[in-house]
Amino acid sequence: MLKPDICHRETEFAQLQNVIRKELLDVYGLSQNSYAAVALTGSGTASVEAMITSLVPINGKLLVLANGVYGERIKKIAENYNIAHSVIKKEWGEELGVVEAEQFLQKDNKITTVAVVHHETTTGRLNDLSSVGTLCQDYGKALLVDAVSSFGAEEIRFDRWGISACAASSNKCLHGVAGASFVLASRSSLESQHVEPARSVYLDLSEYYRQQEKGASPFTHAVQVFYGLAEALAEFKEIGGWTARKREYENRASMIRQNAQQTGISQYLTTGALACSLTSFYLPKSISYNELHDNLRRAGFVIYAGQGKISKKIFRIANMGAITKEDIERFNFALRGILCKQ
Ligand SMILES: *Cc1c(COP(=O)(O)O)cnc(C)c1O
Repeated sequence: MLKPDICHRETEFAQLQNVIRKELLDVYGLSQNSYAAVALTGSGTASVEAMITSLVPINGKLLVLANGVYGERIKKIAENYNIAHSVIKKEWGEELGVVEAEQFLQKDNKITTVAVVHHETTTGRLNDLSSVGTLCQDYGKALLVDAVSSFGAEEIRFDRWGISACAASSNKCLHGVAGASFVLASRSSLESQHVEPARSVYLDLSEYYRQQEKGASPFTHAVQVFYGLAEALAEFKEIGGWTARKREYENRASMIRQNAQQTGISQYLTTGALACSLTSFYLPKSISYNELHDNLRRAGFVIYAGQGKISKKIFRIANMGAITKEDIERFNFALRGILCKQ
């Protein structure tokens, strides 16, 4: 990231952007003939917003399956842009309503597109993309996925699950820094779902796609952040790609989960699929979240509170990033120390 700042309209930047776009497809072995990566400057939400606003056709209708903060954020995006939509809303942490979704698709033939979050970071639940994908294929609907906190560390089968597009960011499982995000989409959806006029000026995927195919970019990119992403992708490849990263995260998460259990803390989700990058736990009665957070922070660790209506009930521990086994051991030791004093 300390490399010289360069002009985003010159060939050096075009090369950097080309490398990033190619390496992003390589994360899941996608062919350049069928898929393309579109790189954006902005946090993960920018990529989700670009995907939803650019790939739901003008006269289309979106069905959102939501079971947490990020699913509800997709609904809010549809609402704010006046995109016709319906939502199947589940309690946070519950399974997605795939059965209800099927009933919905049978009743409402206006739906063109389904959107879903893969890893719902609110609770740590890994949603069942495979069932949603099968459903969308059976009914001929486009599937848009928020994979911001799963991309690079969980299995994502683009072809098999019929994924039209997926949005993610530099700074979660890929270990880049914040400020860059991207959408991986099938070329056919990028070329056929052309929304004219675009709903957003800055987040118009079609325009980015057209220009990035020529090595250009419609707006100024965060060049330094792109350097960071290119290096993160090179390191990702060196360690052996998403399967190696998933294995590493699973080891870290199981150390954290075991220690929590021995310390008397219960996991919020005990059934269903758990993501490997984050675990949510019930807050013990003996301590407030702020007290737990501040004590851990003094020991050198930052944890996350629950969000929204479960903020008083749970806390979350993520294990993404350049973290060693020793770091996890020190964390577990600090957590035990804090809770055993109560
Ligand atoms: C982190 C995250 C986002 C994006 O959040 P930003 O603050 O914009 O980076 C979107 N969806 C999910 C599932 C996330 O975990």
